Amino acid sequence: MFLSKTYFKKLTTLSLLGISVLYFAQEKAQVEQANESNLRKHITYLASDELQGRLTGSEGETKAANYFSAEFKKLGLKPYEGKEFIQNFEYSVKLNPHDDQTSTPIKGKNVIAVLDNKADRTIVIGAHYDHLGLNEHHNSTLANSAGQIHNGADDNASGTAAVLELARMFSQNKTKENANYVFALFSGEEDGLMGSKKLAETIKTTYPNTIFMINMDMVGRLNDKKDLTVGGVGTSPILPELVKKHKPEGFNLALDESGVGPSDHTSFYLKDIPVLFLFTGTHNDYHKPTDDSDKINYSGGTVIANYVFDLANALGNEKEIPFVKTKVVASKSVPKYKVSLGIMPNYADSKDGMGIDGVIDNRPAANAGILQGDVLTKIGKCEVKEVYSYMDCLSKVNAGEEHPVTVKRNGEEKIFNVKF
Ligand SMILES: [Zn+2]
Repeated sequence: MFLSKTYFKKLTTLSLLGISVLYFAQEKAQVEQANESNLRKHITYLASDELQGRLTGSEGETKAANYFSAEFKKLGLKPYEGKEFIQNFEYSVKLNPHDDQTSTPIKGKNVIAVLDNKADRTIVIGAHYDHLGLNEHHNSTLANSAGQIHNGADDNASGTAAVLELARMFSQNKTKENANYVFALFSGEEDGLMGSKKLAETIKTTYPNTIFMINMDMVGRLNDKKDLTVGGVGTSPILPELVKKHKPEGFNLALDESGVGPSDHTSFYLKDIPVLFLFTGTHNDYHKPTDDSDKINYSGGTVIANYVFDLANALGNEKEIPFVKTKVVASKSVPKYKVSLGIMPNYADSKDGMGIDGVIDNRPAANAGILQGDVLTKIGKCEVKEVYSYMDCLSKVNAGEEHPVTVKRNGEEKIFNVKF
């Protein structure tokens, strides 16, 4: 039997007290299981006011990054590149919505560790840890929330904590896995997947045998029905069966094929790497100062971390994971919007309209009376089938124009006059 170093040390110390047998039994049962109190500890710290909402480029971001580095070091993991776990990157944001010309440079930090099992394949397990700070970058869904701390407990201290816990589980696992694991904590996600883009650019140079990426973004609000969205299942033909096979008991999985979505797995999918994306769904506190740690379902998060552990192990044992493109993006350049509706689109595949996951206060959709849960079918005469045609329709509207917007509400068609 293989004994990990930490285990051996503990065992020796405790043998002196004559209770080694008891300790051994407990240890065997506990290892490889996600620990709820670890998740609670990480999330409580990351979503505390001390970190000021972890805005990319802020002091709070640095504090979080140092916390991760210390955790990874404690686990004996090696840095992804160089001697530090931190990977720096830069981008710029337009901070004034009325000024299209001036952009401000932002410096972000990914924190990335590697468990090198000398395997012939590498799997990335990631989550973003940045959030909205005091709404300096205008990503809040609450009007006039500048200056309020957006703690981001679900978005995405929850996914971050799961990655830290998985790093612990894999590095203390007694059976050696058939894959190397890269544990990646991204920053710059809220400004447009900036950190994950940086890692996705170099991953195949640093680890040419990278075969998969698993992303967790907002996994802290598992509801009573245990609904879990699993995205990216269309990016390899082996995935639909694999995710169902390891499904935790009582869970309802909503499978979404697309490799493109509102989070960091998209960056890897666009580099032809198959992906999975786990998400417990949106809620009223999304991107608001009220996304706090007391609203997290910690036992649910623990089950999800165990699920990812099983999936990441199973993926390491697969003979082949062929990559499949799930969508053809019509043009390389993203359409430029002059207007916005102020809603959160549902990214799930559909043909007969796009679900609205959230409505932002004081924006055109909300002002016209459109509600969360409505299904958007038309903007003017332009038909909305899913998120892609939605973006297309939106790009045709000019600021100041007024258009009838059609939605389905409880199966009934309703038309609202929206002033853009
Ligand atoms: Zn977010």
